[in-house]
Amino acid sequence: MATPESKIRLKAATLAVGTEVTDGQILDRNSAWISQKLSRAGIQMIEHRAVADDREDITRALQELSARADLLFVTGGLGPTSDDFTRDLLATVYGRPLEYDETSWKQIEEKLANRGIVAREIQKQQCYFPRGSKILFNPAGTANAFSFEAEGKSSPLKVYALPGPPVEIAAVWEANLKSEIENLVPLEEREELFILRTLGRGESDIAEKTEAVIAGSGLRVGYRAHAPYVEVKLWYRLGEKAKVADVIRKLEKTLEPWIVSRNDEDAAQALLALIRAGAGLEILDAATFGVLHDRLAQQLRESGGDGSVSHKLRVTTLFSDRVSEDGSPAVPSKGAIFTLTCDDARNVWLLRLKSREGRESLLEESPPFKYKVRSDRGRKFITEKSLLWLASLASELI
Ligand code: ATP
Repeated sequence: MATPESKIRLKAATLAVGTEVTDGQILDRNSAWISQKLSRAGIQMIEHRAVADDREDITRALQELSARADLLFVTGGLGPTSDDFTRDLLATVYGRPLEYDETSWKQIEEKLANRGIVAREIQKQQCYFPRGSKILFNPAGTANAFSFEAEGKSSPLKVYALPGPPVEIAAVWEANLKSEIENLVPLEEREELFILRTLGRGESDIAEKTEAVIAGSGLRVGYRAHAPYVEVKLWYRLGEKAKVADVIRKLEKTLEPWIVSRNDEDAAQALLALIRAGAGLEILDAATFGVLHDRLAQQLRESGGDGSVSHKLRVTTLFSDRVSEDGSPAVPSKGAIFTLTCDDARNVWLLRLKSREGRESLLEESPPFKYKVRSDRGRKFITEKSLLWLASLASELI
């Protein structure tokens, strides 16, 4: 579902110039990269456009995007060859004749000399900039970038022309644009994003519950379904954080049975951190068919197979229906045993704890949920919820 646009925000668009992009030879990673930086700085992205190396298409794209954006980032086509004419078209479209910059030429000569190359006359092309441009030094390539103000949507439009190679964009950004962009939107007007990841209900169900809670609150909301998860994304202005806090709390309460993470926190990572600091843990899993084991194993692999955790954790997967009364695994020398089982009849699962002294207690019983406990989604759901529970219980018990 689309994210509703807010009226007050600065709007930005990207224009990727290059036939290799429109032909599908390369993906427009530049726009994704720039958009991430801008979104974090509180600027709203309204469009990514890509056009071939074609004068007419580039001209039309510049005109159309200028009418809609406050900031326009054009990437590619700043090189010295005959198919690089971004700078000419920018000069024409915005009525700013190109002017030669001797400093940029000296920089090109120097950069190439460092690599034992003599600068060629053709590279002088890269030293022409639309009149009034601010030249943005490119530490990673020959073509300097530039920016200028032009007539745009309502207020002046700011145009940024950046080279094509992603490493050069990153270098130009770091050297010239980072603080300028980060200061465009005052902190209290910036939007903060809060993400609730849920599992166990469909997108429309989660959306309906969410809309009922946040109606009239001023929160912007978006949904992302990436099976088996549904994410609820909430944006609010930093200056309004206190105002929306209650609504967010209420929403968390409403969705609680299905929430598996907040702001991309990882439950497996949290549990492993607790085990690292604690005495040890054994999990006897007769509910997830190994999903819980794989989830923890993957997290351990990603953290380099952390030895300080692996000798304190034992996960036993039972492929039988239930854990039999006397079928428990060997009691570990230290640590508690959590037993995870499920109950088909009620479509719930149970988490039991056996203490070091051998006392057993039922810790948690899930609310009934939409999926069969023995389906793939059911197992993922049980895994994520168990990890959350284990992490909250482990802090006291292991
Ligand atoms: P150069 O001086 O290298 O010619 P340029 O500014 O003319 O730079 P292009 O020729 O358009 O840029 O692109 C150079 C290279 O940068 C491309 O071959 C491609 O590898 C990469 N590139 C260009 N545009 C993009 C994009 N939108 N996303 C990711 N990579 C890109």
